[in-house]
Amino acid sequence: MNLSEFSQKAQLVPLQTLDFPVFQKAGVEVIVRRDDLFDSELSGNKFYKLWFNLEAARCKGFRRILTFGGAYSNHIHASAAAGKRFEFETIGLIRGEESLPLNPCLTDAVAWGMQLQYLSREDYGQRNNPEFQAWLANEFDAFVIPEGGANIEGAKGMQIAGEVLSKQLNDDFTSVCVACGTGTSLAGVAVGVKENQSVYGFSALKGEGDLAQNVRRLCQALKAESHSLSQQVLPENWRLITGFHAGGYAKRLPDFVERFWQEFEWKTGILLDPVYTLKMFWGVFYLVQQGFWKRGSRIVVIHSGGLQGRRGFK
Ligand SMILES: *Cc1c(COP(=O)(O)O)cnc(C)c1O
Repeated sequence: MNLSEFSQKAQLVPLQTLDFPVFQKAGVEVIVRRDDLFDSELSGNKFYKLWFNLEAARCKGFRRILTFGGAYSNHIHASAAAGKRFEFETIGLIRGEESLPLNPCLTDAVAWGMQLQYLSREDYGQRNNPEFQAWLANEFDAFVIPEGGANIEGAKGMQIAGEVLSKQLNDDFTSVCVACGTGTSLAGVAVGVKENQSVYGFSALKGEGDLAQNVRRLCQALKAESHSLSQQVLPENWRLITGFHAGGYAKRLPDFVERFWQEFEWKTGILLDPVYTLKMFWGVFYLVQQGFWKRGSRIVVIHSGGLQGRRGFK
């Protein structure tokens, strides 16, 4: 698959308008971009974030990739699937101790040929340390992809999702909503759409830390690559939305969020994952009810996939 085939595949991702009385009442239209249907194994934003990373690995002559994640990580799952499909050996460095039998996520990863190694939480804390990464690259003769595909290559992949969305809707939308972990997807989409369209990142984490700084840095790097001087002086078209994290990763959800989850899936037929997309949709419904978006707004919500992660959730 080359880049143009990849973009074409992204153009085929369906858009689904949601029909709920709250949206009518607020006078807004809400459209879901179903990136959960992008690919059967490499669903959601992770395939986009891997795309240019794999290309970089290939250009540099690597046949093996190495990356990091927790035991339920969508990124580990997608990296293993991508390795199998695009003929890379894969090594996954997993946070914490091995727990047997393997959960469904790691079972898939191993079935796709990923070699797993476990890192103590302390060692795992070094995952973003450039010296540690350089040592790993040398030790395993592998191209190192950061946790979550969170680098400029990752953001560049999601820029494609934004550009494709613009084409699909002929730029006829006002806002885009994206679920955020590292903010890489948010940055890519923000640069991919037009400057007058606002992109809202719903943080799944409690305490955003340096999330905003990461997004800013990636946006600047992407714009610098496109050599667009005019873009660099324009104000930012993205914003972080916090307060819908429900305590952070892997925390028990409040009952009313659970009820919202069931009702949403029942009425739309769209499945959500509890870590990212559920929280974003909860936030979108809440904000629409609060009149956050003015009447006439056309809001696209990117369904970033992650449904494999539902299997680990009771
Ligand atoms: C990984 C993931 C995200 C977070 O993406 P970032 O680019 O790290 O912000 C959002 N949604 C889903 C379903 C994911 O798996």
